[in-house]
Amino acid sequence: MIIFHQTAAISNYVENQHRNGLHTGFVPTMGALHEGHISLIRQSGEANNITICSIFVNPTQFNNPADFANYPSTLEKDIDLLEASGCSALFLPNTSSIYPDGYKTIHYPLGYLDSVLEGSFRPGHFQGVCQVVDRLLQIIPATNLYLGQKDFQQCMVIRALIDYKKIPVKLHIGATIRESDGLAMSSRNMRLNAEERQRAVQIYRTLTFIRDHFHTHKLKDLQEQAIIQLKQAGFKIDYVSLCNDKLEAQERWDGESIVQALIAAYLNEVRLIDNMCVSN
Ligand code: AMP
Repeated sequence: MIIFHQTAAISNYVENQHRNGLHTGFVPTMGALHEGHISLIRQSGEANNITICSIFVNPTQFNNPADFANYPSTLEKDIDLLEASGCSALFLPNTSSIYPDGYKTIHYPLGYLDSVLEGSFRPGHFQGVCQVVDRLLQIIPATNLYLGQKDFQQCMVIRALIDYKKIPVKLHIGATIRESDGLAMSSRNMRLNAEERQRAVQIYRTLTFIRDHFHTHKLKDLQEQAIIQLKQAGFKIDYVSLCNDKLEAQERWDGESIVQALIAAYLNEVRLIDNMCVSN
């Protein structure tokens, strides 16, 4: 695996692959890699000649400075995992090469997508996500982009960014990878102590509860039950939402639309998110 620090060097590398008729896949990450990230690397490896991963903890997407300061970093282990999974190149930029002109605020017209769920609880978060992905795709103009369903709303936001900026990349969404008890893998799980880690699985249990009762209960009742379950497990809830594929909250099922349950909640200082398709 080749490791790049300079933007010009990795841009040349990617352009050379394209000149030789090869396809490139790109997996942007913030490091502290786990099987969720590696599944995207493998998905890319199966469909592309070259797979590029980036590790950059993007300051502009953190609305909470403590979350940024505490973001885990495990670079040596990340490099070993990437090499073992067949990743071709790793881009490890510093902040000034991603933001040569400082953190200039750019406004991306995300509209409704930026105002609900994560957008409403983390103001500015998706603007920061768009800023970094927009920049990374300029540096790494890959054929294919791989994102995880774990960050469902983020996938929709990046789809909107690609459409809006007409970026010539194809978006692929990989399934959420879970621990054996169902907890969605996340770099933030490292911040849970043993007791919190045991309780964290309740998010998954509540999502499966909603899915298992979807066809026999009112959505409003399921949402209320979910809130009770999470509170009993000690969570402080940001939201429990049942939405259609446009992220519009659903009060009742129309019998056709795909319904997604989305949860964001804190266990002490650690904020966890997860989602599941509950209608089929
Ligand atoms: P992050 O490093 O958290 O910014 O995540 C980088 C990419 O990995 C994003 O596209 C995430 O959605 C994806 N990802 C994170 N956790 C998982 C998971 N458990 N399963 C699948 N993809 C994931």
